[in-house]
Order: sequence, then structure tokens, then C-alpha cells
Amino acid sequence: MVKAVVGANWGDEGKGKITDMLAEKADIIVRFQGGANAGHTIVNNYGKFALHTLPSGVFYGHTTSVIGNGVALNIPILMNEIKSVTDRNVPMPKILVSDRCQMVMPYHILFDQYEEERLGGKSFGSTKSGIAPFYSDKYAKIGFQVSELFDEALLREKVVRVSEMKNVILEHLYHKPVIRAEELLQTLHEYREMIAPYVCDVSAFLHQALHEGKTILLEGQLGTLKDPDHGIYPMVTSSSTLAAFGAIGAGLPPHEIREIITVCKAYSSAVGAGAFVSEIFGQEADELRRRGGDGGEFGATTGRPRRMGWFDCVASRYGCRLQGTTDVAFTVLDVLGYLDEIPVCVGYEIDGEVTTDFPVTCKLEKAKPVLERLPGWKCDIRGIRNYEELPENCRNYVEFIEKRIGYPITMVSNGPGREDIIYRKSSL
Ligand code: GDP
Repeated sequence: MVKAVVGANWGDEGKGKITDMLAEKADIIVRFQGGANAGHTIVNNYGKFALHTLPSGVFYGHTTSVIGNGVALNIPILMNEIKSVTDRNVPMPKILVSDRCQMVMPYHILFDQYEEERLGGKSFGSTKSGIAPFYSDKYAKIGFQVSELFDEALLREKVVRVSEMKNVILEHLYHKPVIRAEELLQTLHEYREMIAPYVCDVSAFLHQALHEGKTILLEGQLGTLKDPDHGIYPMVTSSSTLAAFGAIGAGLPPHEIREIITVCKAYSSAVGAGAFVSEIFGQEADELRRRGGDGGEFGATTGRPRRMGWFDCVASRYGCRLQGTTDVAFTVLDVLGYLDEIPVCVGYEIDGEVTTDFPVTCKLEKAKPVLERLPGWKCDIRGIRNYEELPENCRNYVEFIEKRIGYPITMVSNGPGREDIIYRKSSL
């Protein structure tokens, strides 16, 4: 059976922690989209880790970690990440990389930087990991599949052909040094050495695993609102962040995805540019940022301070709907214990009308938040394991949000660790 762990919002909802927790009872964990542009933070008995490419199951001896064909694979980063976990006493994880996975090329990273420089103040706030140039090339059919590293004649011909094309832009648009085909080929030979031990036909492997009754966990990156189709285009990422894409990005039949666990954080945060209706600023934002997550809301990849906001029922209801949510994991609730009152965004006012439907981007830019204030619980809820033991105002907050988003909150996370979880029966 296949379960997906995905985000309802802008990412950073705490998916890494939930995946790490669920991985205990899974056999295989698969990354199916995205690349090293976003990170998951995981706290466990080995310490605190920021993973970018490796699935969040690498800390268990019994799991296989899979990089699916949908991922933007940066081979040197993957190698560094493997080293960074094994250097800290984590046993060498079992890793498989799809032979159909495409590689982030050194020039993708450069193009990302050059384009951000060219756009100046109008940039998208890219993490400059090469993700947008990578996916552009994939769909323009000039990307490089891992399998192609093992066909020298094909590789050589393609390197020359693609360099010629890229060099026109490098020279005439960006005025930067051109790609030397021989050097690039050399780099790809190094990539081949590094990746060879891990390459396999992932969809065939997963097909067999399903046949044997194994449990497969699909691990999403970012969240619904960063999806290129259903998110806040163009301030989105370049590959689909939806559970449905898990079938494609891993090579699985869609009907095998039985559980979709959508992670929602108890307040909002976002990185990069784009409309963020429930955003807060100044001291109010600084305080939430400082207290947020585990040691503050700063990007796991970039260290950038995240933009902060109150919980957004409009965006989250939409985010859960597009994911096809069966369960909501509601995270980082412990952080809100300092507030006397907790504002929640329950609607958007657009041109004088209030709506609870999440609009297209051009309307979203005009939306103003309609806030409702709920009483806070003013205490530390960490360490509580039974839902009934949570303060009444805290339960009211969970249930208020559950009603507004319309999907069952079956897990409440009240701390960064694996064991900081409260299971509950939803009344929905
Ligand atoms: P992801 O990309 O969705 O995995 O999100 P992040 O890596 O940004 O995770 C959010 C941060 O919150 C990380 O630092 C986690 O360790 C932390 N975290 C996750 N769940 C909880 C929680 O319930 N309470 C607290 N205080 N921190 C949490």
C-alpha cells in the first residue's frame, strides 16, 4: 500500500518530521518531485539534520530510500548528503536512484543565478539551485537522464549539441563564460562514477514491492500553493507538489495511493515572493518567527528568514482539497502557547466581497484577510500525549480549524521529535 505525505500550503509545514515518524512502519520512502531547493528538518536520536535530496527515512535501518524519476537530481549534493549523515554515525542507508531521473547540470545552477541577476528586483526569489532551468530543459527535451551517463556515444553527442545552444544565451543574453563541452563531459564522467552504485529501474522495483505487500511512503516537497498548476503561479516551484504526481514521479499506479496525509502548520510561513494574505509584519512577525519551528523559522536550505502569518483556513482548505487529503497532520501547535489571542484567517475580502474559495493569482493579489480571534491557552503543551489532556482552548483551536478546512485532523504534533505526536479521532 502507498501513503503520501504532502504539504497543504507554501512548504515548511513539518513534512520531514511526519515522514520520519511514519517511516518507522514503512518499507520504502520515495522522493518523487523537486530537488535540493527545499529542505526538511528532522530531529531524532542521531541529532538534527537538514535533508534536501535524501528521503526522510534514511535514519532507519529497515527502510529503502528511493529517488524517483520526478526528482531534479543534483549528484554532488546527494553524495554530500549521504556523507553528512554517515559522518554522524547514521548507518549507511540503502539508496536507489531511478535510471529515468534527470540530472541538475552545473549550467542549470549558473542559469538560475544569471536569470535572478538579470531580473534584479523582479526576481522570483529562487533558491538558485537550478530547479527552474532544469525542469525547463526536461520539458524542452534537452535534459540528461541518469541512464544516458552509461551510453558514451550518446552522451558525447548530446553534450556538444546542448552546449552549442546554451552558449548562445550565455554569450549574448548573460555575457558570461561559455560551456566547454570537454569539461562538461569530464564532469559527467565523475557523476557516473558517483551514482553508478545506486541506479536501478525504480518503477519495476516498486511494482515488485507492492506485489510483496510492502508499505511505500511518498514524500512530497513544498506544498499545494507552490504547485505550478494549482498554486500561486508564477511564484511556484517547477514540479507538481501534489500527491497525484507521486504516481508519476515514482512510477506507480495512481489507485495504489490509499492514504494522503496532508501536513498543515498551526500558523503560516512562506519563503520567496508572492501573495501571502494572512502575512504579519514587524514585532508580531519577529516573535512568531523566533519561536516558530524548532529554533526559529529560517530556511533549511538558505537560512533566509521566512515570511510569517496566521493560519489561513481559505488556503489550507483549498490546499487539502487539491491533495485529496484523507488525514491532516496539524503541526507545531506547541509554538502558539505564548499568545493571549490567536488570529485565524477565515475568509478573503476581494473587491468588497468576502469569499472562502481560494482564487487565481491575479485576484489573490487583491485579497485582504478576514480574521477571527480565538482565545489562547497560555501554557506549554509539549509532552502531552492524549488529546483530552490538551487545554480546552487548544482543543477548540484544533476543532475550529478542522471545521473550517473540512478534513479530519487525526494527528497533532506538539514538538519536533518523533514521539511528539497526539493521535485523535476526528468528529468529521
Ligand atoms: P518540511 O519542509 O515540511 O519538512 O518543514 P521544515 O523542515 O521546515 O519543518 C519545520 C520545522 O518545524 C523543523 O524545524 C521541524 O523540526 C519543526 N517541527 C516539526 N513539527 C514540529 C512541532 O510539532 N513543534 C515544533 N516546535 N517544531 C516542529
